[in-house]
Amino acid sequence: MEIQKNVSLRDKNWFQTGGCAKHFCQPETQTDFNQALEHAKESSLSVTLLGEGANALINDDGVDGLVIKPTITSISQAQAENLVTVGAGTSIQACIDWCLNHNLTGLEEFSGIPGTIGGALYINVHYFKFFISQFLSLAQVINKHTGETKTVDRSWFQFDYDQSILQKKEWFLLYATFELTKANDIETAYALGRRDEIIRQRNSRYPTSHTCGSFFRNFHTHELASTTERTGSKKLPFAGYYLDKLGIKGELSHGGATVSHQHANMIVTKDNANSSDVIALARKMQELVFDNFGLILQAECQFLGFEAYPLYQQTQPETQIKPGLAKFAPDTPPSIEP
Ligand SMILES: Cc1cc2nc3c(=O)[nH]c(=O)nc-3n(C[C@H](O)[C@H](O)[C@H](O)COP(=O)(O)OP(=O)(O)OC[C@H]3O[C@@H](n4cnc5c(N)ncnc54)[C@H](O)[C@@H]3O)c2cc1C
Repeated sequence: MEIQKNVSLRDKNWFQTGGCAKHFCQPETQTDFNQALEHAKESSLSVTLLGEGANALINDDGVDGLVIKPTITSISQAQAENLVTVGAGTSIQACIDWCLNHNLTGLEEFSGIPGTIGGALYINVHYFKFFISQFLSLAQVINKHTGETKTVDRSWFQFDYDQSILQKKEWFLLYATFELTKANDIETAYALGRRDEIIRQRNSRYPTSHTCGSFFRNFHTHELASTTERTGSKKLPFAGYYLDKLGIKGELSHGGATVSHQHANMIVTKDNANSSDVIALARKMQELVFDNFGLILQAECQFLGFEAYPLYQQTQPETQIKPGLAKFAPDTPPSIEP
C-alpha cells in the first residue's frame, strides 16, 4: 500500500475546503491498516482517520502526520443469516442497499445519510428515533499505538447521543457486525419503499452538497439544567430550534460560508470557500444563540488537523467523553461568557 505525501483533502470532504494531508494512505485490508499504523509509529507521525468527510471540517493549513482513509469495503453475511459484517470504509448507503438486496431490514432508516460505517459508529449516526448503535452486534477494532485488534460488543462503545468511545481516538473501527431482521419479499418491498421515501424527503429538506449536515449537536440534559436554573425558563434540547428562531436561514454568512436557506443548523460553502469561513460563521451562530437564549452551541462537526477546538467551548464534566480535541484557547477572548 502506497503512502503518499502532500495529498489535497479538499476533494475528500463534503465542505470541499481545507488543506493537504502531509501523509495519506487508503488501506483496503486489515493488513494494510496495520502497515499504516506501523509506518506512523516508526516515523513518529500522528494518525487521523477520515471517512467520506461528511461530518468533518479540515484545517486550511492541512493535517499533520498520517491521514488514514480506510477503503475496507467488504460485506458478508454470517451463518446466522441476520448478521452482516461490513468493512469500516463501506458507505452507509451501499451497506443499506446490500442488506435490502439480501432481504435484511432495519438499516434503511438511515437512507440518504452520507458517510462510511466507520464515521457512522464514531458519532452514532441518528435519524429521528433511530441510532445506528441499536443495530450493532459486534465490531472489530484496532489499537492506534499497538496495532492490536480485538472483537468487542455494543456495550464496549459506550454509545449515547452523538457519542462513542471511538471519540477517544485510541481505537479505530475495522469491521462492524449488524444484527438485522430477516424479511420476506413483501416486507423487503416495503423497506425499499421506505428507503426511497426517506431519500426523497431528505433531498427536499436538506442541502445535498458542500455541507456536513447539522453543524451543531443538540444539547445534553445537564447543559440545559444549568441554563434553566440561571434563566428561570425551561429550555428545549434542539440546536436547530434556536437557530431557526433567529431568522438566519440563507441570510447569515461569512466569506464563502452561508447558513443554508433550507435548514438553520446547516452551513453550506461556495466553491472558493475556506474552512476559516465556516469557523467564523459558526462562531457568529454561537454568539447569536448565546445572546438570545443563553446557550452555547457545540459542534457535531468534527475538526480535523486543528490543534485546539476552534469554537466557543462549553465546560464539560471530566467524566464525559470529549471529542478528542484540545481545550479551547482563543487568540481573542470570546464575546460571550458561559
Ligand atoms: C447532507 C448531509 C446530511 C447528513 N445527515 C445526517 C443525519 O441525518 N444523521 C446523522 O447522524 N448524521 C448526518 N450527517 C453527518 C454524516 O453523514 C455522518 O456523521 C457520517 O457518519 C460521517 O461519516 P464519514 O465517513 O463521512 O466520517 P468523516 O466525516 O470522514 O469523519 C467523522 C469522524 O469519524 C472519524 N472516523 C472515520 N472513520 C473512522 C474509523 N474507521 N474509526 C474511527 N473513527 C473514524 C473521523 O476521524 C472523524 O473524527 C449528514 C451529513 C451530510 C453531509
